[in-house]
Amino acid sequence: MNMMNYSFLYQQIVNGYSSLPLHLLPGYSLPPLQLFLEVTYNCNLSCDFCQFLQSSDSGSMPASANRFELSIGECHNIVEQAPPTAVISFTGGEPFVKAGFADLLGAASERNKTHIFTNGTRIGGKTAESLVDLGSRNLLTPGLILVGISLEGLADTHNRITGRPWAYAKTIEGLHSLAHYKASKNRKYPLIELKTVISENNVRELYAIYQVAKQCRVDIFNVMAMSMLPQASRTGRCAAGSYLEPPPPVKPVAPVILEEQLRRIQEDAARSEIQLRTTPQGFDFREIINHYHDKRRLAGYRCYYPWYGVGISAYGDLLICPYTVTGNVREHRIKTLLNNRRARIFRKHLQAARIFPGCWGCCMLVPRKPRLPR
Ligand code: SF4
Ligand code: SF4
Repeated sequence: MNMMNYSFLYQQIVNGYSSLPLHLLPGYSLPPLQLFLEVTYNCNLSCDFCQFLQSSDSGSMPASANRFELSIGECHNIVEQAPPTAVISFTGGEPFVKAGFADLLGAASERNKTHIFTNGTRIGGKTAESLVDLGSRNLLTPGLILVGISLEGLADTHNRITGRPWAYAKTIEGLHSLAHYKASKNRKYPLIELKTVISENNVRELYAIYQVAKQCRVDIFNVMAMSMLPQASRTGRCAAGSYLEPPPPVKPVAPVILEEQLRRIQEDAARSEIQLRTTPQGFDFREIINHYHDKRRLAGYRCYYPWYGVGISAYGDLLICPYTVTGNVREHRIKTLLNNRRARIFRKHLQAARIFPGCWGCCMLVPRKPRLPR
């Protein structure tokens, strides 16, 4: 398996799943195949590009006086409402700073496939062993299938970007612990994914970060384009309908260096077991380079996410797109919010438009014509 093989397969599945309601029940969706639950916006790091910094004090305060994060009991309730066929992705902030998160993940992994996004600083030693023990036995059984860990550079760069002098060492320790327990227990799952958001601070180190990924025996290296989408649920600053406006351009990075770093990664990965992935999932390396130079080609993309996915913010808002909140899970059940009037209107609008100016850079963009794996 190499670049985009899994992404290609996943695109085929979600396109097929979304097609039925798209064509037969305009505006409606089937139960979600993927549920993202943001368990907290607190984090023990302080990355300079973090979209949650305004929402979190990297400590314990809610983002605003009248918005409070879901309790761990409310998170369990959400998990219980998820269809057993849905992959539940836990994200944050940093999920492991949420009290009770390990038990939540354990309970979810007994009935669903699960996935976590973490900065990796709190998963060393016994926590890594318990994550491996939660691993799915195969693709058909429940359990933890993927641990996504962010690494923003080599030691100095990563520590500077994250604002913590110990961050790199802790994340590398977490990666090694996971690889160690996977090997000693002879487990394929959870897969380990190392994720790096490209910026002017780390562009010269991308190939070196990729080498770190190989040394840490990760399964997937994910090269991520920085997203500039506003986050309606988190900041409350995004006016309804702003998906009609393009997001601001991302800060450019040196094009020759970016191109050279990506080329070296691609050449090496072609001879290696490691799988390359990109975010947005529909971007190839050429499109990532375009993204950093504000060359937008939206016409080549589509989005099916509102027909197969759903996100729940740490405040309980249910989103079928980063721009579109349909209600709050404290007031209504998930299945009610999934197909209420607001959700149906948004899907019909997207179906007609195919893509919005505000979609550029969104993780959920897929090519209009799925690209065959290389
Ligand atoms: S690790 Fe993630 S949530 Fe934490 S500060 Fe960095 S970008 Fe934000
Ligand atoms: S691609 Fe556009 S419509 Fe789809 S989830 Fe992202 S912002 Fe929403």
